[in-house]
Amino acid sequence: MARIIAIVNQKGGVGKTTTTVNITASLKALGKRVLLCDFDPQANATSGMGVDKNTASPNVYDVLINGADPKKSVVSTKYGDVIPSNKALAGAGIEMIAIPDREHLLKKALDSLAENYDYIFIDCPPSLELLTVNALCAAHSLIVPVQCEYYALEGLSDLLSTVRLVKRGLNPKLSLEGVLLTMFDSRTNLSLQVAEEVKRHFPGQVYATVIPRNVRLSEAPSHGMPVTDYDPYSRGAEAYRSLAEEMSAGEG
Ligand code: ADP
Ligand code: MG
Repeated sequence: MARIIAIVNQKGGVGKTTTTVNITASLKALGKRVLLCDFDPQANATSGMGVDKNTASPNVYDVLINGADPKKSVVSTKYGDVIPSNKALAGAGIEMIAIPDREHLLKKALDSLAENYDYIFIDCPPSLELLTVNALCAAHSLIVPVQCEYYALEGLSDLLSTVRLVKRGLNPKLSLEGVLLTMFDSRTNLSLQVAEEVKRHFPGQVYATVIPRNVRLSEAPSHGMPVTDYDPYSRGAEAYRSLAEEMSAGEG
């Protein structure tokens, strides 16, 4: 049965999508059965996996709102399977309000696919609203990417209090898989200071693997491929492979 992991942080631009795409591809390369569920209306993870967000159908919106069969939404790629998103998902938060058990719509869809995978990753949108609550209800655990910049910890207390609320009522077993330091620049004291501060706040919960700032990571999406394929020897690719190894070493 799949371990379902949401990549979450309501801040935009911290590396959620980059992490979701590259951890999926790296675990696939280790022989794991992986599914990436794109749950952001921007659909950058969909295109980052080489899937056309404008034509892929049915997509995650159709599954949640129109009752499409989740199995029919899955697109297989050489980097792993994908449930595509597109901009229609932006309206889903409002439309879901009228649906019974609205917090568990994504969970129902992913649970029906879980036996086919070792890992399912959910790329969350940059908000703490109903879409993200659906991801927190569907997930067993969370990876929180934190950018090694000023204000790195800002907003994390809001995230953690949302997580506590979800645990209290909707998903008591939800746990923190790990905090991931992203866009680390070893040439700056700031990156080092932020890394130390995050480790103090989350003792024992920060991945040993740190993702460096690496231009190849930002170039890869425009080629519709993970960095591990775009430039396998880049520092970004090495870092995500190492994260995949760290994660799979911690299995079980
Ligand atoms: P989020 O999904 O949290 O909004 P993204 O993964 O889309 O964040 O990253 C934001 C931007 O930063 C994107 O343009 C992405 O290509 C770039 N980026 C992400 N991680 C890195 C990194 N480690 N080094 C350099 N650029 C990165
Ligand atoms: Mg994103």
